[in-house]
Amino acid sequence: MAQKEQYDYIIIGNGIAGFQLAIALSRDTFFNNKQIALIDESHKTENDKTISFWEKGAGKWDSIVIKSWSEAWVFSNKKELHLKLHPYTYKTIHVLDFYKKAKQEISKKTNFHFIIDSVISVEKSKQPKITTVNNSYEAKHIFDSRIPDDYFSESNKYTKIIQHFKGWIIEVDKPVFKTDQFTMMDYRLKDGNQTTFTYVLPLSSTRALIEFTYFTPKLVEESTYDSYIKQYISSLLKIESYSISETESGRIPMTDFPFEKYSTKHVTKIGTAAGWVKGSSGYSFKHTEKKVASIVTNLKAGNTPSKNLFRRKYKFYDKIFLKVLHDENEKGEWIFEQFYSKNSIDSMFRFLDEESTFLEDLKIMKSLFSFSFIKAFFKTL
Ligand SMILES: Cc1cc2nc3c(=O)[nH]c(=O)nc-3n(C[C@H](O)[C@H](O)[C@H](O)COP(=O)(O)OP(=O)(O)OC[C@H]3O[C@@H](n4cnc5c(N)ncnc54)[C@H](O)[C@@H]3O)c2cc1C
Repeated sequence: MAQKEQYDYIIIGNGIAGFQLAIALSRDTFFNNKQIALIDESHKTENDKTISFWEKGAGKWDSIVIKSWSEAWVFSNKKELHLKLHPYTYKTIHVLDFYKKAKQEISKKTNFHFIIDSVISVEKSKQPKITTVNNSYEAKHIFDSRIPDDYFSESNKYTKIIQHFKGWIIEVDKPVFKTDQFTMMDYRLKDGNQTTFTYVLPLSSTRALIEFTYFTPKLVEESTYDSYIKQYISSLLKIESYSISETESGRIPMTDFPFEKYSTKHVTKIGTAAGWVKGSSGYSFKHTEKKVASIVTNLKAGNTPSKNLFRRKYKFYDKIFLKVLHDENEKGEWIFEQFYSKNSIDSMFRFLDEESTFLEDLKIMKSLFSFSFIKAFFKTL
């Protein structure tokens, strides 16, 4: 019979959150005497997503950044916005490089242990227990990146938008892409009146990721994304001949579901399962960095690890935004056009990074001031 194994900390899930947390713990000598296990059902050997984020100057993932851009475009049916991102740059990594870097770094520490297994349940007691397909484990603290079942069942109580998309990486013979500019959102091609747009990341002058994205409550057939990507390439990029070298699909929750309530004194939810994906944008990579830093500080101070991970005002702003997008999905184009045309890059990124001042928040609210937001504001109150 399998032995019950005991650790100080167990991290469930070697994804973006689990690995960022493990890297942070491995780099801090405070945790050198802790036995830490990482459990995942996957060996993480696939490049299952392209991860992008913005930041000022140099950052801690620069060694694996495959491309960065200093300018961006936002196209609506009324405006073409050319955004100079300085002092920020938009950076992209292959997630497989991130997994490799994490595994390489963590494996150097003898107090870290990799376990390939599938977690069935977690008992949230004082000495929390994990039951997996092959074994059972105990730890003083568990970090868990599995999304709570309630998220999938409590369908009507919270606002749930799905950011769902499919992307093709295309290759062309002649140099057609401007390599210092990417398209954040292009609303010129839409699926009806819904919030849908195309995202274009030129990886070189002859290679680009083209993604058709929905911010909607419902999913669509696989062939629908394909058809819009095809149309975008021919009618907006005016490219006739190309080959598809890779594809990527994703579904990211954009929601006000209270994930944070699922953390306890002894079990901390992390990543998407903890609400670290920003409700109004779907970005989480850089937020994860900050949440992980707070968890490390809390652990060292003897606090509950999930203490003070969120600033309530941003949860409130996201809730209002999601309500508008849910109730009046056709407003997405107008909202993002206003947002990107009426505010400075610095204020927008600081707002999305949840670092803005109240004055900046007010300016952003003013740029979106409309009956839809007033209604959503009162409904949210
Ligand atoms: C295609 C795609 C592209 C994205 N692009 C961006 C982007 O450009 N920028 C950005 O900021 N965000 C992006 N996101 C959003 C977000 O950053 C990612 O979803 C991110 O992976 C979330 O991290 P996570 O650790 O919560 O989950 P994951 O990275 O999904 O990790 C969860 C891990 O838990 C493991 N696991 C799950 N259940 C069990 C179980 N029962 N037992 C054992 N292991 C288990 C899984 O195998 C997995 O390794 C993207 C998301 C997707 C899907």
